[in-house]
Amino acid sequence: MDEAQWKAIVNCDATFDGRFFYGVTTTGIFCRPSCRSRAPLPEHVRIFKSAGEAQAAGFRPCKRCRPDTPLRPDEEMVHMVKAIVNRRFEEPLTLESLAQELSMSPYHLHRTFKRWTGVTPAEYLFAKRIEVAKEALRTEPLRTITDIALAVGFRSASHFSTVFRKMTGCSPKHYRTQHGTVGTAQEAAR
Ligand SMILES: [Zn+2]
Repeated sequence: MDEAQWKAIVNCDATFDGRFFYGVTTTGIFCRPSCRSRAPLPEHVRIFKSAGEAQAAGFRPCKRCRPDTPLRPDEEMVHMVKAIVNRRFEEPLTLESLAQELSMSPYHLHRTFKRWTGVTPAEYLFAKRIEVAKEALRTEPLRTITDIALAVGFRSASHFSTVFRKMTGCSPKHYRTQHGTVGTAQEAAR
């Protein structure tokens, strides 16, 4: 097992699904990298190139991630887009860059993703960024809103505010005043 494979297992990284499978010697079960089951100890992991190889070595497929059934191509694509966004939301990702990375047309990516998830890739990306920003607004009272906006991947504080308002119904500043009590109380107590 190499470093990248181990990281993929620990992070449940769906972008590695299909590239390898891993068996856990203590349980006799094998999984896809994205499986949400508890991460094994590295010394108990065995890497396989295919599900067949794992089964031939005596491992049984996990009931949770079903590594013995192939992912449908669309499902796999949606899976990968989510994995990329969740891991790299702060990068300047666009529909075009995602499409290029997955070797497909932006149109197909947009349509398929929306059909499976109910939201567009851009909406999914913004939702992830806003979720992380909300956490920062609640817990980091000393960080400026611009700093938070840029850190989660927006190009400007004003774009961030527009998207934030659209998704939450209030401004980042207002959200912080309403929900940032823990952090501000701590600051005040110092
Ligand atoms: Zn599994």
